[in-house]
Amino acid sequence: MTIVFLALLTLIEGVRRVPRGSVVLHRVLFGPWAVEPPEPGERLRLPAWWSPLMSAIVLAPRTQYERTDAAALRAQLEGRALYTALFDLRLLGVVELFVLVLGLPFALQRFGALGFFAALGAVLLLCMTIFIALALSTHALGKPWRAALRWSLPYLSPFAAPRSAEALLEETLRDVAPSVASSALLPGDAFLRWVRPIVYDATNGREVDRRLLEGLNLQTLRASLASHNGKGMWCPRCGATFVQGESCSECDIPLVLAGTPSA
Ligand SMILES: [Zn+2]
Repeated sequence: MTIVFLALLTLIEGVRRVPRGSVVLHRVLFGPWAVEPPEPGERLRLPAWWSPLMSAIVLAPRTQYERTDAAALRAQLEGRALYTALFDLRLLGVVELFVLVLGLPFALQRFGALGFFAALGAVLLLCMTIFIALALSTHALGKPWRAALRWSLPYLSPFAAPRSAEALLEETLRDVAPSVASSALLPGDAFLRWVRPIVYDATNGREVDRRLLEGLNLQTLRASLASHNGKGMWCPRCGATFVQGESCSECDIPLVLAGTPSA
């Protein structure tokens, strides 16, 4: 019973207000990132489940992005400082989550009050470690000490602490154009699948959220998106292949013959 209650409390921590036009990326533990379809309207959502078991980052749209350099972002994400911090926070988050949800009730049942307080001590120690690591990392990102400590404070809560890695990553990406962030995080083919309709719509004068195009090198992208190796027909907007047919059932666009570059 306690386990269910604690699990629910930590799950609720994942509820987020997702603004319209946000790009939401998610991943399972240390697996590859995946992107969700664009948000049609603002709503309350649960993009992450017991982060970091299933974590999500919400890239809310901004009027302007200060960082559009994909290479610089990739270097930062792969750089030792941030990479290690994110890895450690994720690991600490998993451990803290398990001690909180499973360890605490188990210790109480098995060893009584003493067990409960020992487990509680472990949880608080883990939360303190997470808080300090988070404050150090956000300070390294350029926040002054006071701001870094204040920003990290909510993650002292045992229920929010497991989310610290995704919070730090989201904070790192705050001024980064969503397309640049997606190209750095997503596997190559997943990024192309996501960006293909955006580039197609922009090229063909259809309605598209211009902010999603920021930081993209349209010329090189168009070149890498223009051809499709395979048999049959394919849709130049979503990349789906068809054995036969005239138009894409999803996009309502005339299909082109595979192997030939699309116009
Ligand atoms: Zn299509």
